[in-house]
Amino acid sequence: MQPDALQRLLNSMADALFPAKCLGCGRLFQQDAGTPPTGHPNGFSAAMAAHFCPPCRDTWVAVASPLCSRCGLVFKSREGEDHLCGRCLDRPGAFTRARAAGVYANALQSAIHALKFKSQVSLAGPLGALLFDTFRHHWTDGDIDVVAPVPLHRHRFRRRGFNQAYLLVRRWALPDAILVVRDLLVRTRATAPQTGLDRKQRQINIRNAFSVSRPGQSTGKRVLLVDDVLTTGATADACAAALIRDGARRVDVLTLARAL
Ligand SMILES: [Zn+2]
Ligand SMILES: [Zn+2]
Repeated sequence: MQPDALQRLLNSMADALFPAKCLGCGRLFQQDAGTPPTGHPNGFSAAMAAHFCPPCRDTWVAVASPLCSRCGLVFKSREGEDHLCGRCLDRPGAFTRARAAGVYANALQSAIHALKFKSQVSLAGPLGALLFDTFRHHWTDGDIDVVAPVPLHRHRFRRRGFNQAYLLVRRWALPDAILVVRDLLVRTRATAPQTGLDRKQRQINIRNAFSVSRPGQSTGKRVLLVDDVLTTGATADACAAALIRDGARRVDVLTLARAL
C-alpha cells in the first residue's frame, strides 16, 4: 500500500473511532475525509470541517453585497448596489474601509467564542486562514504596509494569555514588504466590555483607550487593523484615530465577523 493511501486509511479509522464534538450543537460527528481547499466565500465550511458538523457549518453566512462601502455593514435589503450607510454619511470616523469574512451569528459566532473565552487556540489556524482569504479578496499586496492587531489591555491579556487578533494573523504568508507589527498600538486604558452598550456609550467607553507604542512608527504607512468582530466600529475608530494622529496615511479594518 502507498504511504499516502495508508495515511488516508489510518485517518478514516481514527475518525470512526474518535468522532469530533461539534462546537455549535455539541453533537458528535464524523469528520469529512479530506478537507476541501479554502476560498472565498465558502471558506468557513472548508476551514472548520474538523470543528463543526455539516449542518452547523451550513449556518455560516458570508458577508456579501449590498453593504456599506465604508464600514461593511450588511444591508437588510438584499438587492441593490453597495453605498454608504446612514452612520457613515453622518460621521465617517477615522478608518477608510472595513471588511469582514462573515456575519457575526451561528457557527462563526460559536467559533469566535470558543477561541476567546474557552481558549481553544487551535481554532486560530483555520480562522486565520479564513481571514487571510478575506484579505486577499478585498486588498492587493501593494495596498498595505503594516498589519496590526487590535490590542488588549495588559490586564485582560494576562488573564486570557493571548491576543486572539494577533493569533489570527501571525501565520499569514505575506510578502516581505508587509510587516505584521504585534504592538503597533497599545491599550492604555482598561475599558469595560463593549457588550450591551449602544453606539454612543461604546464611543465614550473606548475614547482615548489606545495609543501608539513607538511614536512615528505608523507615519506615512497604510495600516490594516485586524480584530475578531466589528460591531459599531467604535473600537476600530479609536485605534484608527490613534494611528492617524501618529501620521498613518490610511487605516483599513479587517475582521472575521461583522455584527448586524
Ligand atoms: Zn453541529
Ligand atoms: Zn457604514
